[in-house]
Amino acid sequence: MPKNSPTSLDPRSPLVLDTRELPRRPGALRTVERVVPAPSDLGVELIGVPEGAGLDLDLRMESVSEGVLVSGTVSGPIQGECGRCLHEIDDSVAVTIQELYAYENSTTDATTEEDEVGRMQGDLIDLEPALRDAVVLALPNNPLCRQDCPGLCPECGVHLDDLPADHSHQQIDPRWAGLSQLTRTEE
Ligand SMILES: [Zn+2]
Ligand SMILES: [Zn+2]
Repeated sequence: MPKNSPTSLDPRSPLVLDTRELPRRPGALRTVERVVPAPSDLGVELIGVPEGAGLDLDLRMESVSEGVLVSGTVSGPIQGECGRCLHEIDDSVAVTIQELYAYENSTTDATTEEDEVGRMQGDLIDLEPALRDAVVLALPNNPLCRQDCPGLCPECGVHLDDLPADHSHQQIDPRWAGLSQLTRTEE
């Protein structure tokens, strides 16, 4: 990709940070506090942030010699299904973000790979990849409605919480089934 390519980021996009107000002098600080709608597919198979739900950004942008350091927390609601009983889970997630975005044509820009250090596009920062990584990493692959969820009875699919402790499915031997039929008709 050519350097100094015109930016493709939209400064009005909720997950794009605009650094025009941030002086390019090491130590200069700006805070970003806003609630933005969650992008689609922010999650793992069984649980994630519903699209459009409010993500709370509580971030600071700090000028460093080679770029802008973005740090702080992102939090929001998560919804999903218990991996054992499929009951709905309503919870929340909070993650910390710390990511350096190098100025275009800085030494860092020239000497690192893009997957090591983020890049600024002009004055803009695309926060979405770092936010996505942090949130997805924080989500459980096997979410549970509670740590000791006993799950469902494998025979009838009823939640084991809703069944008596001695719940079981006695298999009637087909040879005896005929006999019980017989005793019933005699009654
Ligand atoms: Zn459960
Ligand atoms: Zn059962």
